[in-house]
Amino acid sequence: MRTSAEYFSDLMKLKANVYVAGERVRRDDPRIMPGIRVMSVTFDLAQNPDWEDLMTATSPLIGKRVNRFTYPPQNPYDLMQKQKMIRLLAQRVGGCIQRCMGCDTIVGLSICTKEMDEKYGTDYHSRFLNFLKGYQENDLTAAAAQTDMKGDRTKRPHEQPDPDAYVHIVDVRSDGIVVRGAKISITMAAYADEIIVIPTRAMTEKDRDYAVAFAIPADWDGVRLITRPAWIRERKQLEAPLAEYGVSESVVVFDNTFIPKERVFMCKEWEFGRRLALLFADSHRHSYTGCKPAVSDILCGATALVAEANNIEGIPHVRQKLSEFAGGGELSYAAGIASALYGEKTSSGTFFPNAIYVNVGRRLMGETIYHEYNILTEIAGGLSVTLPFEEDFSADPTKQDLDKYIKRNPKLSSEEQHRIWRLVENIGASAMAYWYQIAGVHGGGSPIMETITLNAEYDYESKKNIARYLAGITKDLDQSKYLKEEPTF
Ligand SMILES: Cc1cc2nc3c(=O)[nH]c(=O)nc-3n(C[C@H](O)[C@H](O)[C@H](O)COP(=O)(O)OP(=O)(O)OC[C@H]3O[C@@H](n4cnc5c(N)ncnc54)[C@H](O)[C@@H]3O)c2cc1C
Repeated sequence: MRTSAEYFSDLMKLKANVYVAGERVRRDDPRIMPGIRVMSVTFDLAQNPDWEDLMTATSPLIGKRVNRFTYPPQNPYDLMQKQKMIRLLAQRVGGCIQRCMGCDTIVGLSICTKEMDEKYGTDYHSRFLNFLKGYQENDLTAAAAQTDMKGDRTKRPHEQPDPDAYVHIVDVRSDGIVVRGAKISITMAAYADEIIVIPTRAMTEKDRDYAVAFAIPADWDGVRLITRPAWIRERKQLEAPLAEYGVSESVVVFDNTFIPKERVFMCKEWEFGRRLALLFADSHRHSYTGCKPAVSDILCGATALVAEANNIEGIPHVRQKLSEFAGGGELSYAAGIASALYGEKTSSGTFFPNAIYVNVGRRLMGETIYHEYNILTEIAGGLSVTLPFEEDFSADPTKQDLDKYIKRNPKLSSEEQHRIWRLVENIGASAMAYWYQIAGVHGGGSPIMETITLNAEYDYESKKNIARYLAGITKDLDQSKYLKEEPTF
């Protein structure tokens, strides 16, 4: 497995195809570094013996310990370890650990390539497994490029006035394909080794050129990354782990890009567009049952701490509001565990979480994210947006003023209170706060996508039958499906 230093040195070997604010930059640009530091945590902890069981797993493919982010889960335990790993890592970096996206793409491809081969007799699965071998051996990271520009939202890919609104195949050659289009909002593309492209939606036969999946190195010829980094306002003196981390999203442009055949995992199999999109999305929603509880943990911790600074921690309305964090975060986490226990072994060997549980777990957190920020704001008061700059806490004569007046709870030092307020400003009133709110709603798909999945998969008929039975309309309460359903241990 790579160390974080090796990961960074490999990034530095990539061609400069990243553009930020009108200039072409190297990957060590200071605006990109906060995201690289997040990724480094996933390498550092994998080297730590105390974290070995959580951060690594033995790959049946290469017979070695590999970073868990490169490993498709094989059983419910693996799914639960992945969820727990994401929660604990997300707590350490202040929110999004980012590397799960590549992992969820690999999960989706491991299952879908096998199913396509079973239906069409193609060789996508062996191509994918060859790619995965290298991915695991070299401990790589990947951005998941699913979301297309999409153009007019009411039109299908082939109906768009601009045919490039969705990434599509423009040429098929004996040695590969040529693609054009752009993916948007792609987290960590600027500091990923690989970019993995998958479809964003269901396709019809007329959309077949848009049914495409592949992986390419992030600096591949014909790929441009137009990157928007986000990070917390730099600290001047008051160092804190939270201020080290950040994120970047990119528009990934494919400019008539050649993709070698061995890296193509779907080429016009339009019937599987929906399947692959959903496999990624549901696996990613399982990841969310780890990271969204972590965001809730961070908001809960900050709220409890600022309540202490305000000396109102024991007041009943504060206790009541704090319990709401436990209600949301732990219910979502429990849904992730249930999804592992009621998951299924697919023909590829990958163990996949139960779709109902991951979708209800993810939807709950999407619905409560703004409410959780509201609790923090309500308990904290307004100082998070009016706090004087850090320099005024260290320069004369304002230092004396602020040291005196920042104190609310006499048991805490002025510096502790300043640190708490700076944290609340960073978490609740910064560019990153908005990033987390909007990621909480749309990351992994808009709320409507969870509703669509639930309505497709949830068994409303069996619920109606309960009502019919209780109403005396039928004498038959058929519960055989539920009697047969067993959790996997
Ligand atoms: C912080 C962040 C990180 C992200 N990271 C990634 C990433 O790493 N990889 C990736 O692939 N994506 C990523 N995304 C993208 C994310 O998956 C999308 O934002 C999400 O799927 C919604 O798509 P959209 O933003 O294009 O919104 P839209 O699709 O434009 O949705 C906006 C609204 O329009 C509605 N709508 C859309 N189509 C229709 C229709 N046909 N009929 C009626 N209503 C419609 C939707 O329901 C929604 O209410 C990220 C997003 C965020 C916010």
